[in-house]
Amino acid sequence: MNPYWLEEPAPARAATPHEGRVDVAVVGGGVTGCSAALRLAEGGLRVRLHEARDIAEGASGRNGGFALRGGAARYDVARETYGAGRAAAYWRWTQDALDRLAGLAGDALRRPGSYRLAADEEEREAIRLEFEALREDGIAAEWLDDVPGGAAGKFHGAISHDGDGSIQPARFVRRLAARAAGAGVDIREHDRVEDVDELAAERVLVATDGYGHGLVAELADLIWPTRGQVIVSEPLDGVLYDRPHYARQGFDYWQQLADGRVLLGGFRDVSIMDELTDVEQTTPTIQSSLESFMHELVGAQVEITHRWAGIFGLTQDMLPLVGPVPGRDGRVWVAGGYSGHGNVLGFACGQLVADALLGDASSPQLELFDPARFA
Ligand SMILES: Cc1cc2nc3c(=O)[nH]c(=O)nc-3n(C[C@H](O)[C@H](O)[C@H](O)COP(=O)(O)OP(=O)(O)OC[C@H]3O[C@@H](n4cnc5c(N)ncnc54)[C@H](O)[C@@H]3O)c2cc1C
Repeated sequence: MNPYWLEEPAPARAATPHEGRVDVAVVGGGVTGCSAALRLAEGGLRVRLHEARDIAEGASGRNGGFALRGGAARYDVARETYGAGRAAAYWRWTQDALDRLAGLAGDALRRPGSYRLAADEEEREAIRLEFEALREDGIAAEWLDDVPGGAAGKFHGAISHDGDGSIQPARFVRRLAARAAGAGVDIREHDRVEDVDELAAERVLVATDGYGHGLVAELADLIWPTRGQVIVSEPLDGVLYDRPHYARQGFDYWQQLADGRVLLGGFRDVSIMDELTDVEQTTPTIQSSLESFMHELVGAQVEITHRWAGIFGLTQDMLPLVGPVPGRDGRVWVAGGYSGHGNVLGFACGQLVADALLGDASSPQLELFDPARFA
C-alpha cells in the first residue's frame, strides 16, 4: 500500500494557530477542505481545518490523477436527468473550474486532453449519443474511430476531450493547503473530529467525501463510501499513452506518467458489492484483474511497483451534495459525494460552498447540488 503520489515530500507551510472559537471549522484536508478553507480565509473568516491524517492522505492523494471536465454521469444521461439547460450549465461550470485550477496548480497539472473509449459496440453506441449531445450543446469534443498510441486498434471509437488534464493530486492539494495556511487558516493534522457538535466554531463544513462515514448521521444514507483500487508499473521506455484514457463507463482508467510509469485503476465491477466499503485495503480479486489488464495495455509482463486503495463517496444521482445539512439549523454544511470524479469537482465545490458560507448563494449549481433534494 504505497500511493505513488504521496511519495514526494510535502512543501513547508506557515503555522497560523487560532485561539478560541472560529467562524468556520472544516473537517477534512483533501481537495474540498483545502479549496474551501482557502476561499473562506481570503473572504476574511477565521478558519480551522481538522484532518485525521496528513493533508491529501484521503482520496485526494490516492486517485487516478484524471482532471476532467464534466460530471460523473454521461452527458446525454445528465441532460435527460437534470434537464438540458442545467446539464450544459453544469458542464461549463466545471470547465471554468478546471481553468481556475490550472491557474493555481503550476507543474501539478498538464493538459494533454483525454480519451473516453468504447470497449465494445454497445458502448460505442452509448458514447456516440454522448458525443452528439455534447456537440448539440456546443461543448467541445471530437469523435475518433480509432486513437493513436497503445490503444490503437483495441477499442471501438472514442471521444477526444481537448483541455482535460492529468494532475499530481497530492502535490496540488498540498500546495492549496500551503496557500490556505498563508491566508491564515489554522491547519491541524492528526486531529480526528469525533463529534461536530463539540467543535468551537460558528459553522462546520464537512468535507470528508467517502471517509468519515457516520460522522453526521443525516449524511450516512446520502454519501456511500466506495473503494477504488490502483496499480502503477515500473517506468517504461517509450510513450504508449500520452493522456488519460478511460473505458467501460469509467470502470477502467489509465494514463502514463511523466516518468514513464503506467497508472491503472478500476475493475470495481469485478466485485462491485465488496467495494461498497470504507476499508482502505487492496483485494486479491481486483488486484489480479488490474495486473492482467496492465500486461495487455503494455504488451509485456511489467513489474508493479505501487498498489493502493482509496475511498470515494458515491451518491444516488451522481451529483455532489453541497450546502447546509438538512435538520442542522444551518450550522453544519457539507461538500462531497463526487462519485469518483472529485479532482475538479472537489476544487470547484470547495469554492462553491465557501462562497455560500460567505453569503453568496447566487450560483445555480447550489440548487442542483442541494443536500435537501433527497428529503
Ligand atoms: C482509487 C480512486 C481513484 C480516483 N480517481 C479519480 C480521478 O482520476 N479523477 C477524479 O476526478 N477523481 C478521482 N477519484 C475521486 C477523488 O479522488 C475524490 O472525489 C476527491 O479526492 C475527494 O476529495 P475530498 O477532499 O472531498 O475528500 P478526501 O480527499 O477523501 O479527503 C477527506 C479527508 O477527510 C479526512 N477525515 C475523514 N473523517 C475525518 C474526521 N472525523 N476528522 C478529521 N478528518 C477526517 C480524511 O482523512 C481525508 O483526508 C478517485 C478516488 C479513488 C478512491
